[in-house]
Amino acid sequence: MSCTVFSIANQKGGVGKTTTAINLGWALAERKVPTLLIDLDPQANATSALGFEKTPGSSLYGALHGDGAAEERVIETRQKDLFLIGSEVDLAAIEIELGQQEDYLVRLREVLKPLRESGKYRAIILDCPPALGMISMNGLAAADYLLVALQCEYLAMEGLGQIMGVVDQLTSAGVNPNLAVGGILMTMYDKRTNLSRQVVQEVKEHLGELVFDTHIPRTVRLSEAPSFGQSIFEYERLGAGSHAYKKFAKEFIKRFGLK
Ligand code: ADP
Ligand code: MG
Repeated sequence: MSCTVFSIANQKGGVGKTTTAINLGWALAERKVPTLLIDLDPQANATSALGFEKTPGSSLYGALHGDGAAEERVIETRQKDLFLIGSEVDLAAIEIELGQQEDYLVRLREVLKPLRESGKYRAIILDCPPALGMISMNGLAAADYLLVALQCEYLAMEGLGQIMGVVDQLTSAGVNPNLAVGGILMTMYDKRTNLSRQVVQEVKEHLGELVFDTHIPRTVRLSEAPSFGQSIFEYERLGAGSHAYKKFAKEFIKRFGLK
């Protein structure tokens, strides 16, 4: 089984990266795409949103220092075919420490290589922190595709140039010549407002086909689910949020040929 690595990154926080990482991962697994979700944010939102503790020693921190293999950090979730490597606060130190290593940009890629080649996962999703620091750079250096979550709000595209610029840098400098922008997911879409429609229209004018057809609606349920440590599929199986992430997974599988 070949494995494709997706990095969900951009420097803005609160745009739906983590919500997308966990619910896309869950929906892919439900469609029998073996998926490994890796929480790369020291705040460990994806870890706790799935109901796991931020246990010291549970993140990739050790492996990034050559202490143990990433494989040992993989845990099973309540959903068959969805696996997780959690995060904890230790990971924050990586921002500083990685910069002192010679291979600092490709450290994560090397650590993930055995997981990629294990034949166990068809997709690896990296949930990056809301900053274009060392961790996100490593996430992009290790990925085949960047996925961007954009909130349907005024100035949605602000900052998009910066992350696109990083992709250009990493490809042209030869750090990760394979990296491509995989797609833009519009999040927190409010169908009652003209603003959401206008924002989607504007983003499509600039980015065309890169924008996924599926938009994720703004729903209270999606914001409540993490506090119960549940995916949207456990928290509200038949609501608009579940429906949207299911639809997104279907589109995603098709776009990247994951089956
Ligand atoms: P990021 O990882 O980009 O910082 P999150 O996924 O953590 O963003 O989302 C930020 C906040 O918005 C969280 O409280 C989350 O529960 C909430 N949220 C995310 N997506 C939606 C949505 N579609 N509708 C309503 N609230 C959402
Ligand atoms: Mg997040």
